[in-house]
Amino acid sequence: SSENVVAVVTGSNRGIGLEIARQLASHGLTVVLTARNVDAGLEAVTSLRHQGGFKVDFHQLDVTDASSIKEFGRWIKQTFGGLDILVNNAGVNYNLGSDNSVEFAETVVSTNYHGTKNIIKAMIPLMRPSPQGARIVNVSSRLGRVYGRRNRLANVELRDQLSNPDSLTEELIDRTVSTFIDQVKDGTWESGGWPQTFTDYSISKLAVNAYTRMIAKELSTRQEGEKIYVNSFCPGWVKTAMTGFAGNMSPEDAADTGVWLSLVLSQEAVTGKFFAERREINF
Ligand code: NDP
Repeated sequence: SSENVVAVVTGSNRGIGLEIARQLASHGLTVVLTARNVDAGLEAVTSLRHQGGFKVDFHQLDVTDASSIKEFGRWIKQTFGGLDILVNNAGVNYNLGSDNSVEFAETVVSTNYHGTKNIIKAMIPLMRPSPQGARIVNVSSRLGRVYGRRNRLANVELRDQLSNPDSLTEELIDRTVSTFIDQVKDGTWESGGWPQTFTDYSISKLAVNAYTRMIAKELSTRQEGEKIYVNSFCPGWVKTAMTGFAGNMSPEDAADTGVWLSLVLSQEAVTGKFFAERREINF
């Protein structure tokens, strides 16, 4: 039954992650709310528990900290024997409004891309086999679309490699983001042909989308009963701290597609896809 289903949400002390945690808990799941900051996490857990009947646990998890990830994995194994649903929501963006600074590019890429990837790698061995398949849902962004009309990579060859599941490797994705970081460091990034808007953030989400496809393909060879389905989605432009509360959507509405991908879609073997408003969109 649903109360035995364990869902982990990263960065769920506030914003879209907190809403995803709330909605998953309202479906009767056991939700593990996680946050890098213990006080902020415990406060969020208390607010959810006040709504009554929710099964919500807390554990510290900083997606950029290897020892935090390791300790979290140990705890989830010991406490629940594993997990069924992983929502990679934790993310940062230092560009507000029309600002396109790359001052924090390293933090953005290491949190949004490497953090997501490292959590996925640590959690895959802990994901419990089930007839309907375990799920990984990555909160990404349309800004990371390889073929986005306005925000695309100038390098056509790289674009094609990153969008072809057969040429997509972790090494290619890692090399793409590290080339960008190297160019930020030596001051040549502006002529590098990178996305024009929110450049560092867009690259981090492009990498998340590419990794989603890559790992989904890798996991697709698993036998029935041991499947893990991996998809990403764009929540829209949301009123959270990340946008200075300037978005046009509530966190409640923004969480919807993530919850749908975690639960409702579970009858269908959809994997390696990108969604918005419950519809598949192009990478
Ligand atoms: P918030 O800034 O409100 O929430 C981000 C969350 O991520 C916070 O809980 C934050 O924790 C956490 N976080 C940041 N770094 C780490 C880390 N190293 N380890 C663990 N947690 C961390 O923004 P949103 O709710 O809007 O963002 C949630 C996701 O949605 C992000 O991935 C974002 O990129 C994505 N998104 C948001 C859009 C929007 O319009 N808002 C649009 C498209 C995508 P702390 O409180 O400690 O900072």
